[in-house]
Amino acid sequence: MSYDGPVHCTIDLSKQGKQVGRLQFPRISNTAGWGFSFVPIATIANGTGPTVLVSGGNHGDEYEGQVAALRLIDEIDPSQVNGRIIVVPVISKEAAWANTRLWPSGVNFNRSFPGRPDGPPNEQLSDYFTRELFPAADVVIDMHSGGRTAWFLPCSHMHVVENPDQRAKMLEGMLAWNSDFHFLYVDVNGNGLLPVEAENQGKIVITTELGGGGRVPAPVHRLAWSGLTNVLRHVGVLEGEVLTRASLGLPDAVIIDGREGDNMVITEETGVWEGILEPGEPVKEGEPVGRLWFPDTPGRSPNVMRAPRDGVVVVTRAIPVAEAGDSVFVLGQPIDRADIR
Ligand SMILES: [Zn+2]
Repeated sequence: MSYDGPVHCTIDLSKQGKQVGRLQFPRISNTAGWGFSFVPIATIANGTGPTVLVSGGNHGDEYEGQVAALRLIDEIDPSQVNGRIIVVPVISKEAAWANTRLWPSGVNFNRSFPGRPDGPPNEQLSDYFTRELFPAADVVIDMHSGGRTAWFLPCSHMHVVENPDQRAKMLEGMLAWNSDFHFLYVDVNGNGLLPVEAENQGKIVITTELGGGGRVPAPVHRLAWSGLTNVLRHVGVLEGEVLTRASLGLPDAVIIDGREGDNMVITEETGVWEGILEPGEPVKEGEPVGRLWFPDTPGRSPNVMRAPRDGVVVVTRAIPVAEAGDSVFVLGQPIDRADIR
């Protein structure tokens, strides 16, 4: 059944060559009773190879992937492509302009799946991904980072999905990013994720957490670009030699398993976070990772936040102010790739 929902794509995604257009869907605002939201979309297509969907800006304040995706549209010529690259470089465009994780309406686009055509705007858009973009794709690359609030060890990451063939291909795709670290994650905050819907449709899903903290260091921009283009070569849609860490003279990446639930530590009180360890540093159970200070009660000793288990620090809070219930750090444990199941 062809798509019959409210999202209109201004380009024909089945055509060869490079096209740049937009997705538009109804938007009622205080400046227009009848208006539309615009989300940019592009295709770079040539020949009959695989289709890869590349997205950035699922969360608005994560610019690493947005820049890499925009660069892809600008720099890649159809003659370099075998198959089709569909790029949605800035999904949550209004949030990106506002430098916020969430849409101005307060919704989290990454909790909007599978969506529905008669739902609110975020669900109309997620429904378009679910029923139109994912079914057309063999591979889905969704680029995230820690956003303003968190600094994540720059890495590509994945869910350990049930299907062994899909899992093996996702693992190879994750490794092809050639980052120093990779991360195995579980959803701690509910369902409705973009990657999960794509995984449920059997797609090879490759995702990232490229730093964060409200600033993008140049090495992270370089990792976003080198990783993205190498993964595109790895899956056969972009011409050129596939690089490996070995071919680059680098040691094997460290794969960190964050699937045990107590790896994510929250604060139970509101305060000011002081990190003691940085992401990438190892830690033993019981050692301090950071402290929470209480400016309203000088003289009160800080809460020392300790590692709940042995591991490596993967994420630390990037904005010191922390509200009760906020995540302050995340750990994980190194795992051999042969043990991933
Ligand atoms: Zn994100």
